[in-house]
Amino acid sequence: MRLRELCQEGRRRLEACGIEEAELDSRLLLCGALHMDTGAYLAHMEDDALPEVTALYERYLSERERRRPLQYILGYTEFMGLRFRVDERVLIPRQDTELLCELVLSEHKDRDCSLLDLCTGSGAIAVSLALLGGYSRVTATDISEPALELARENLRLDLEERDLKAAPRTGADSVSATACIKQDISFVCGDLFGPVREAMRAQGIEAYDIIVSNPPYIREQELGELEPEVRLFEPRNALWGSEDGLIFYRRIASEAGSYMRAGGRLYLEIGFDQGREVSELLRKHGFINVSVHRDYSGHDRVVSAEAGL
Ligand code: GLN
Repeated sequence: MRLRELCQEGRRRLEACGIEEAELDSRLLLCGALHMDTGAYLAHMEDDALPEVTALYERYLSERERRRPLQYILGYTEFMGLRFRVDERVLIPRQDTELLCELVLSEHKDRDCSLLDLCTGSGAIAVSLALLGGYSRVTATDISEPALELARENLRLDLEERDLKAAPRTGADSVSATACIKQDISFVCGDLFGPVREAMRAQGIEAYDIIVSNPPYIREQELGELEPEVRLFEPRNALWGSEDGLIFYRRIASEAGSYMRAGGRLYLEIGFDQGREVSELLRKHGFINVSVHRDYSGHDRVVSAEAGL
């Protein structure tokens, strides 16, 4: 069978399961099975499929039919132009979260900065900000050690990638990614601020300039209504935000101030209907210049604020 026909068959199967992006998913899964990007696939789609490709594609399709997310099947996703490994240990980084990173990058050009990322998961936010912002000291925490293992791996992979782009390896002249890096990036396990004091001591940070977080914020009763990809496969502790969805914002609003310098900036991703409540929580705890930012679909997505004196 030709690759094009294989792809069409895949699309029919995914459509039959009610998968909305059946056409795109069937193509991306086939590209994954072929280890090709879309351009290469288009150039080869009239070729006959090798048996091992057909077998792997078959496996991918049946996983997708069970509604396993495309990103977990392929094992990676793109975030801020970087590649992140993902699997069931972590929430899949969403494009919406890029807004938070872009805000931080646009407001903090100085590399001599300390940054804390709470609930780092795959490390998407911490790794992108460390690499793209070049911030000198970055701490990232998560309650899940398995998630942190993946986050550390993502840092290593993206560093290597950056290193390769910056200086193509030429035998003895090659410089390793870890040798190049002057930044201090630390992933520590614990409940929210739990491990932070210890990390600050180890990294020589007196108070953070920036704190960011995309904490779990789904209301308890809404968990059951999520699409099967999320409900059945993504980690529940990366989604659950208590009965009213605000438990982590409450904790962050009350504790963050004591870890930040006066004038330090806080950036929190929020659900589209949480802007008012989260802003109020922050003001109540002494934050100033609180503002809500909309994403590209026009939904409230990030709240930023400044630590008062
Ligand atoms: N910080 C990670 C992300 O934005 C994980 C968030 C989470 O697990 N709630 O993708």
